[in-house]
Amino acid sequence: MRAGEGTTKRFGARYGARLRKRVEELEKTQYATYQCSRCGRVAVRRVAVGIWQCRKCGHKFAGGAWAPTV
Ligand SMILES: [Zn+2]
Repeated sequence: MRAGEGTTKRFGARYGARLRKRVEELEKTQYATYQCSRCGRVAVRRVAVGIWQCRKCGHKFAGGAWAPTV
């Protein structure tokens, strides 16, 4: 579980403004769309942690927690 280990580190030791800034960046990443590797259209969105799906062709694949590729 790649996603899990990072979370412990991020939220464990230091909790403050830096973390908040980081979360904002991650949320931006989360709502962005990415190019589909199958149909090539920019329509890939995160449907769950580590799960990505293209809204045009329905292509669903596992990727990073915050972006399709790590
Ligand atoms: Zn597609």
